[in-house]
Amino acid sequence: AYHLAGLARGAGSGESGSPPGDGSDLSIMVIEKGREVGAHGVSGAVLNPRALDELIPDWRERTPPLPRQPVHDDRLYFMTKSGKIKCPILPSFLNNHGYYVVSLSRFLRWFSPLVEEAGVDVFPEFPAVELLYRDGAVIGVRTGEKGVGKDGERKANYEPGIDILAKVTVLGEGPRGTLTKTLIRKMGLDEGKNPQTYTLGVKEVWEVPDCRLRPGDVIHTLLWPLKKEDFGGGFIYVTDENLLSVGMVVGLGNPDPYMNTHARLQQFKTHPFVASLLEGGQIVEYGAKTIPEGGYYAIPRPYGPGVLLVGDSAGFLDSRSLKGIHLAMKSGMLAAETILDALRKDDFSEETLGQYHSRIEESWIRDELYPVRNFHQGFDDGLWKGILRMGLQMVTGGRGLRDPAPSRPDFSRMEKVRDYYGGAWREREEVRYDGKLTFDKVTDVFHSGTRHEEDQPPHLKISDYDVCNGRCVEEYGNPCESFCPANVYEMEEEEGGGRHLKLNPTNCVHCKTCDILDPYEIITWVPPEGGGGPNHQRT
Ligand code: SF4
Repeated sequence: AYHLAGLARGAGSGESGSPPGDGSDLSIMVIEKGREVGAHGVSGAVLNPRALDELIPDWRERTPPLPRQPVHDDRLYFMTKSGKIKCPILPSFLNNHGYYVVSLSRFLRWFSPLVEEAGVDVFPEFPAVELLYRDGAVIGVRTGEKGVGKDGERKANYEPGIDILAKVTVLGEGPRGTLTKTLIRKMGLDEGKNPQTYTLGVKEVWEVPDCRLRPGDVIHTLLWPLKKEDFGGGFIYVTDENLLSVGMVVGLGNPDPYMNTHARLQQFKTHPFVASLLEGGQIVEYGAKTIPEGGYYAIPRPYGPGVLLVGDSAGFLDSRSLKGIHLAMKSGMLAAETILDALRKDDFSEETLGQYHSRIEESWIRDELYPVRNFHQGFDDGLWKGILRMGLQMVTGGRGLRDPAPSRPDFSRMEKVRDYYGGAWREREEVRYDGKLTFDKVTDVFHSGTRHEEDQPPHLKISDYDVCNGRCVEEYGNPCESFCPANVYEMEEEEGGGRHLKLNPTNCVHCKTCDILDPYEIITWVPPEGGGGPNHQRT
């Protein structure tokens, strides 16, 4: 939006040549489901400033909320339960020198007024709940209603949704976007593509008065508390003086139905090294998000008549270096340049908007993503085979043994309890928390600032509760209780035996894991009433 406004004013830095007129008749609108821009922004995060340098060349003078110094110390550790071994040679893709440790929510709060100053209308608390079509082309979105009670009845404060019509609609909903999902199905945008696969990242931000690390320090870890079959690892980033992000990222394509990324993060913090870094500190924030890691071959056709996909919604993420913010920005810029051309021609057809795809293919997005196109799939058989395959991919320009490497949806990789645990039933492990270093999910949700209107229909749509209360109990042991990082799903014991699913939708931190990972594909996440969800300030 910022780039398009700049191009239209004739002040943009795009590659599309001179803009049409003064752009004064152009109306650009951003709608945001959070209570303000940044409230739902969560990421690790280490920012590669490549796209920001193109978008706002003088950004350093505009006092963004970034450390004064870029990353200067990168480390990779192989963890055991009580020790660690530093990797003697840091792989080049984990070298973050020149990048910035950033709080995405703070960065977005800084950016939003710049976008408004550029002439863009920004409307928080407006979730888009439906795409509008005419003659097969997208012509806008419908926003969600407000003031509907749990029972589906309108309350005194009822406000209907609004139809917002647009010549081009750009979907930047983050991973597993609700509208993106329906669009991909309707237009067959994923035909011939690998399925998108994801990891779940869960993080806490800690304030540590006597922090031993310096702002801009970056630590990545492998192995404990994960097993060698698990895809993922831990991270510790220092955003600010005394502000430390500690997180865990785990692949959703995990066969263990009881995989619990939140619990793994709590365990990670008890490691003597991590615990010593957090000593004397306190948790100040919590967040979780899924990360699209399927790579180049899982990117759907990112355009259709009247519509473009950007950022995580399209899967623009370098899964090897775990970075997507700069790719999201660049894809937005290329979308803006494509829209400008379409406005000039007054043609918003698939053919004209398809130029977006060509622009991506000719840009550094492709240069970054193509060489790592099979990275995530290489780890499907565990860490050590994954490292071997990664080496092979590096010497074959990303090809490896098979190109494209085969892939399947995450939920299909989950095994039934008895299959995974050697033929015998196994109960879910009880995890104990001390409330000082380790926290249960509900305490962590409190630190995410999450708030929803209580009296509204649940935004987790379960199409068949009988499956949850019957087959799933027997087969998968209700994995939603483990994989949801916010304790939204709880199986309640019934008097006289049996269990039934109880939903706590007000806890939801909007990570979308349940929509991706439920093995029966009966959970659909839809946006709750506008403004509901987390209120991130430092994630
Ligand atoms: Fe994430 Fe779903 Fe749990 Fe919400 S309910 S926090 S989207 S897994």
